This record gives sequence, C-alpha cells and structure tokens, in this order.
Amino acid sequence: LVRYEDVSKSYGDVKVLKNLNLNINKGEKVALIGPSGSGKTTIIRMLMTLEKPTSGFIKFEDEYLWHMVNKKGRLVEADEKHLRKMRTNIGMVFQHFNLFPHMTILRNVMEAPVRVLGLTKEEAKERAIEMLSKVGLKDHLDKYPEQLSGGQKQRVAIARAVVMQPKVMLFDEVTSALDPELVGEVLEVIRELAIETDMAMILVTHEMDFAKEIADRVVFLHDGKIEEEGTPKEIFENPQSKRLQTFLSRFL
Ligand code: ATP
Repeated sequence: LVRYEDVSKSYGDVKVLKNLNLNINKGEKVALIGPSGSGKTTIIRMLMTLEKPTSGFIKFEDEYLWHMVNKKGRLVEADEKHLRKMRTNIGMVFQHFNLFPHMTILRNVMEAPVRVLGLTKEEAKERAIEMLSKVGLKDHLDKYPEQLSGGQKQRVAIARAVVMQPKVMLFDEVTSALDPELVGEVLEVIRELAIETDMAMILVTHEMDFAKEIADRVVFLHDGKIEEEGTPKEIFENPQSKRLQTFLSRFL
C-alpha cells in the first residue's frame, strides 16, 4: 500500500532520516518505536504530505505521492491538486487533537465529508453520528471541544479522521498529551478500530504494551534509520541489537 524508497529528510544541516526503505501492506498495523528525535514523527508527517522528503520517493498504491508523471511522461514534483487527491486516502490523528475550536463536535466530524467527499449535509451528519457513537460520544454532539476532556477530544479527532474512510490511518503519539487516567479510553478506541477495520495503521507510540498487542509489525528507529524490525514477539521478547535492548530496558 505504502512504499518508502530511499527516503531522506533533512532540516537544514540536520539529517533526520537516512535512506529509509519501508513498506506498509494493505491492512497492516505497524508500530514505530524509538528514542525521541529518531525520526518517527517525520516518517508519518511525510506520508500525510505535511513534510516533503529531501530525497527519495514515497509511493501510495503504485502512485507517487510527492511526484507525478506529467504530459510528457516525465516525473515531476507533485502539484497541490495531486497532493490533495492523494491525501484523501490518508487520515491522521495528532498528539494535540487539532480540532476546530469554533465548531461543535458533530460539525468537526461532518466538515471534511461535505467539503472533500462532496456528501450532502444529511449524509455527512448520518455518517458522523454513527462514527461518534462508535467512539462513545453520541451524547456530546452539540458540545464544543473546550467542553470535553482530553480523552474525549482525542476520540473526536479519531472519529473525524476515520469518517473519511482512509486506506491508512496515522497516529502520532496520540496519548502522550493526555492525563494518565485518560490514556486507556483512547487506546481502547484504537484497539477496536484495529480489529474491526481493514485500514492500514501506522502508530508512533511510546506505549510498548499497546504496540505489542495490536501491531502486526514493530519497527525500531534509531538516529534516522531502521535499526531492527519484526513481529512484536521478535522485537519485545528477543531483541537483537544492543540499542534496541537498551531502549526497551527503559520500559521495564
Ligand atoms: P519524538 O518522539 O520526540 O517525537 P521522533 O522520533 O518522532 O521524536 P521527529 O519528530 O521525527 O522524531 O524529529 C526528528 C528530529 O527532527 C528531531 O531532532 C527534531 O528536533 C527535528 N525536527 C522535526 N521537525 C523539525 C522542523 N520542522 N524543523 C527543524 N527540525 C525539526
């Protein structure tokens, strides 16, 4: 579904990702783990088209994300129209919710289906209510984000992304801004989605137990490179590299 081919990313002189090669299969749930600054967030932000790779290619279903083939058959940089089209396949949930503060919960979830997918308001409303019920918020439709707890806000953010029925969902440390007692309810919603849907998921997370439980594959990043990857069993029970062993020892 997604293919990173030799992707590098620098900010100024700082090389954050170094020749990354990574494939995500259809429906696959992949957890990205690694120390702070290892490049995890950058990987998913590039797929969400929020950061542009410095070199290399990202492909989505055999189409280039940041490039496109022009009329002469040449590979050129993608224009905004191409990026917008590609983006409809991809949903993302951020650490800090990023809800629209001036809209009710229901409007937050209806907005993109109307604007981007061209659904009628009635269709979008129906879909939004269904989605908000799924994340346990159907009694809060008319509230504004500021009236909700962090855990509830994050569940709205998940509903808002999933209502678009993307082929891949990106989760960027979605529990790290939450009070500890609110983490569980958000992880539970993601867990259910992971079981119920055939969307692929890429999760940047510091919740090792959660990664162990829901990921098909765990990728450990260190200093902009994949240091080790494997099944949760391989990564957590039998880590090979010294760096991974050291990293995991912090979570014991
Ligand atoms: P964390 O767990 O702390 O979020 P991470 O593994 O997700 O870390 P990234 O957020 O991908 O790491 O960042 C990798 C490096 O790139 C960090 O050193 C960060 O400071 C730097 N970086 C990220 N975004 C920018 C930016 N917009 N401008 C400059 N440097 C950036």
